[in-house]
Amino acid sequence: MQPEDGVAFGTVSRSDSQAPIQQLRGIPPLDVLREKLAPAVAANPNLFYMLKVRGNFRTMHVRSCFVCEKPYPTLSKAAGQQREFRCGNVSGSIIAVFCPAYVEGINLPGWHFHFLSGDKQKGGHILGLSADTLEYQINALHDFELLLPQNPEFAGLDLCEDLSAKTAAVEG
Ligand SMILES: [Zn+2]
Repeated sequence: MQPEDGVAFGTVSRSDSQAPIQQLRGIPPLDVLREKLAPAVAANPNLFYMLKVRGNFRTMHVRSCFVCEKPYPTLSKAAGQQREFRCGNVSGSIIAVFCPAYVEGINLPGWHFHFLSGDKQKGGHILGLSADTLEYQINALHDFELLLPQNPEFAGLDLCEDLSAKTAAVEG
């Protein structure tokens, strides 16, 4: 991306490459991956966590939304136009973030998984995957900073509507 390129929403963190490398074996559906990661956050589910997983994926199923133009649609409307991609035998990384329950409305509580292929040509929001053995590192994050848009569009939004059900439908 170029410095002037924008995104609708981003969650960004530095990753500590010194974090211990651990192994995951036999990764079937995403729900099972969530279960396998549960012990890593159980000691303190009130922190944020960043997960970096590397390996070769037998299958990867992701979705991506098209570039949106003004007036920008809601996430659920944009996701209605999404495209899905499936690939097999692809190496790359999962970048995932865990948000604590109390950030509901600002970010998505729980784990959120994105994929980027090693050659950075394929990627997106993970809908499904399978892999035999993967290596991962988890970083606990003890602080977060919220940057808000400084434009008239944001100033004029009514953000009181509860979008959690619609967001869960497309991000769950
Ligand atoms: Zn996503």
